[in-house]
Amino acid sequence: MRPDILNPLFAEVRAMKGVGPGLAKPLEKLGLVRIKDVLYHFPASWTYRKAVQRLDVADVGSNIILAVTVMDHRSSGSARAPLRIYAADAEGNYITLTFFGRNGGWARKQLPVGEARIISGKLDRYGDELQMVHPDHIVAVGEAGSPGLAEPVYPLSEGLTNKRMGQLATAALEHLPDLPEWIEPSLLTARNWAGWNSAVNQVHHKDDEANRDRLAYDELFSNQLAMRLVRAAMDQRKAVPIAGTGQLVDRLQLPFALTGAQQRVIAEIEGDIAQSRPMLRLLQGDVGAGKTMVALRALLRAVEAGMQGAMLAPTEILARQHFAGLQKLLAGLPINIAILTGREKGKLREATLMGLADGSIHILVGTHAIFQEAVTYKALALAVIDEQHRFGVSQRLMLSRKGRGVPHLLVMTATPIPRSLALAAYGEMDSSQIDELPPGRTPVETRVISQERLPEIVDGVARHLSAGKQAFWVCPLVEESENSDLAAAEQRAEMLRLRFGEQVAVVHGRMKGPEKDAVMERFIRGETRLLVATTVIEVGVDVPNASLMIVEAADRFGLAQLHQLRGRVGRGAEKSVCLLIRSAQIGETARARLALMRETNDGFRIAEEDLKLRGAGELLGTRQSGDSPFRVATPEQVRALISVAADDARLLLDRDGGLAGPRGEAARLCLYLFERDAGIATLRGG
Ligand code: ADP
Ligand code: MG
Repeated sequence: MRPDILNPLFAEVRAMKGVGPGLAKPLEKLGLVRIKDVLYHFPASWTYRKAVQRLDVADVGSNIILAVTVMDHRSSGSARAPLRIYAADAEGNYITLTFFGRNGGWARKQLPVGEARIISGKLDRYGDELQMVHPDHIVAVGEAGSPGLAEPVYPLSEGLTNKRMGQLATAALEHLPDLPEWIEPSLLTARNWAGWNSAVNQVHHKDDEANRDRLAYDELFSNQLAMRLVRAAMDQRKAVPIAGTGQLVDRLQLPFALTGAQQRVIAEIEGDIAQSRPMLRLLQGDVGAGKTMVALRALLRAVEAGMQGAMLAPTEILARQHFAGLQKLLAGLPINIAILTGREKGKLREATLMGLADGSIHILVGTHAIFQEAVTYKALALAVIDEQHRFGVSQRLMLSRKGRGVPHLLVMTATPIPRSLALAAYGEMDSSQIDELPPGRTPVETRVISQERLPEIVDGVARHLSAGKQAFWVCPLVEESENSDLAAAEQRAEMLRLRFGEQVAVVHGRMKGPEKDAVMERFIRGETRLLVATTVIEVGVDVPNASLMIVEAADRFGLAQLHQLRGRVGRGAEKSVCLLIRSAQIGETARARLALMRETNDGFRIAEEDLKLRGAGELLGTRQSGDSPFRVATPEQVRALISVAADDARLLLDRDGGLAGPRGEAARLCLYLFERDAGIATLRGG
């Protein structure tokens, strides 16, 4: 239950005085539903005004604030002509205040002749006169709410003016409870941070980074605290130690020898899963490094120990490919492997669910469906999460209810996750790296080519295909809608079909599962040779005969995404090429980013650059920027502050009495404030 002291912050904005139904939509559009949303809706920038005593031509173009006396109202009488109001500064210099449209009546009332007023706005020149069009503020001298020298400029939506937004913020600030401090006192002092109440207040009144940092830190702290609480709860519930017998692993027939890196990582994982402390390990390895094999080894250990293992893939295509691949490798072993995705329905699904419940299915591969409510396992001991950056606290809690104890968790990614992001997504976790590719791989050669040379590129594709090889053609990502993505891909396929006929296939995210699989399978079998795709092929898909990757409008993709796409080729013995087609006109940054792709194959370096350029949302979640686990903290703040928050959370729980002491009580508020009460729920057992 949320502590009462926070109730005012969770009250609906709608209930605030003066918020009519007209504002509901614009506010909702900005995600401003509760008072606290308004408080955390920070100014995007500030308008600075210069306070002046007298009117001066030198200030034309500046935002000024000054006291004037209203001298005269003049209108031509025509409804369409603007109203001009003459006013004078203390020295008698004139300014014309100009009002267009229907603002005239209002302006006359605000500016009665003979009265003194403080006005602010941008000083213009109109012919020989100094003028101000629609002053931002007009207030009587001494009246409350007179404009400050700095005015916040808020992010807005249609139907909401900056002034109104400012008023809402001011009104919301009246609901501020006085919250006790949850930040470690010495940290607060060292950073010179204000208390929560004061920081929220100031953030709307002055442009000061320290306040923003403090408030962002709170969010990071709540995140880290929740992570630790979940981890502690899981440790307490324990995992089942997996001690394999070797009887399956030894019978596994591989067509190659494991690399040194694979062997090392397997040993690390086996060390972990032999413990009763649930494993939480991140396995990083560039595309093609052979992560699946490592996962398979761990899964086999679980089966040897009489338990079950599950592997979660991010897409249907990838789940099917993993399933097919594992089935092949496991042929001849007494192992029952099954697949479960949203598409398995009816009897088939029932049979799989039964097999999982009675333990006759040993390994399950699938999409998110495998951890759904209805799926029960007899003895799930290990879960492998492949290429899935959005496996957060709630998914982990869900998973923890699936096993007899808490299942060991192995998270695999080809997009190296910088420590700051790993902390944010998973909390403290162990990490393994496969830093060596299997022998015999030639690095992919990357070239950047302008869109204008499309005909040459198509000729190149023709040569490639007639040599019996296959190619991918990835179409531009159109931000606004999936439909336009689709249109682009289909249009491109149409054009390529004119030249290459039936060799061309199309796959995109809107296709129904079976349809998509059919297209992929034909391509994998080599029946089609040029696969035109939207980014659905991004992760994992393995087609060794495809040695040419073309990415159109490459400048619109994230670098990590490009690296993933490039990783689709270079999987066979053949030398592979990746052509990044850039739009005709691109800026300096875009140019530099593409140059980096050409320069390096180092996924780690690319991910770091990408993080700098595109923010955390890109790496942690879906493609839409801004989709980050944090609403308040910016990517820079995450990078700068998350490990501090991690330390702070650890100290609080390990040294300073946990959530029971006075600071712990305050920290609880912080968890509720950021709606990370999942962390608290774990304390109540269950
Ligand atoms: P990723 O790390 O990108 O998931 P995969 O596990 O899909 O990589 O492996 C890529 C390819 O390399 C697969 O075809 C796999 O069979 C092969 N492979 C894995 N390990 C080795 C190895 N030690 N030697 C040679 N080929 C390997
Ligand atoms: Mg993989």
